[in-house]
Amino acid sequence: MSGSPQSEWFDKRGSRGKFRDASEQDEGLRFECTLCGQCCTGPEGYVNFTDEEGRAMAQEVGLTYDQFLDEYAHDTPAGRSLKERKTKFGYDCIFLDRKTIPGKAVCGVYKSRPLQCKTWPFWATNLSSEHAWRGAATGCPGIDRGQKVIPPEEIRIQRAKVRM
Ligand code: SF4
Repeated sequence: MSGSPQSEWFDKRGSRGKFRDASEQDEGLRFECTLCGQCCTGPEGYVNFTDEEGRAMAQEVGLTYDQFLDEYAHDTPAGRSLKERKTKFGYDCIFLDRKTIPGKAVCGVYKSRPLQCKTWPFWATNLSSEHAWRGAATGCPGIDRGQKVIPPEEIRIQRAKVRM
């Protein structure tokens, strides 16, 4: 049976509260990454990846997959994850690069980064309610920023790619 997806809070026009502006004419959510790196640091966490993603990252950094796993991955209670590095900001993802662009934090394996990273901030946990989205925005200045509005259908596609 087919049909339209169940309506959700981000389907509504002007659902973005105090961030209302000209782009509120559209349904969906705004997001524009500022390269602050906050989503890639903080308390100890996990960046899980599949073998396919791991192989792609290994290729991007010029290592064999075994070398890559030795150097950049470890086993955690949540499964295999990229390692982290303790910095003054918190536990940075091992691939977070704070040197190449002064004042910015960029991903050292951007092209092959895992789905968990590619789909941020459109995770089910962040999209469960407008309140949850606002909560995510307190840690991610890219949320509700910029002129580009991500349409609801694209948000659903991103959300369905990972279980976060
Ligand atoms: S916290 Fe948000 S704005 Fe900052 S790097 Fe991550 S996605 Fe970009």
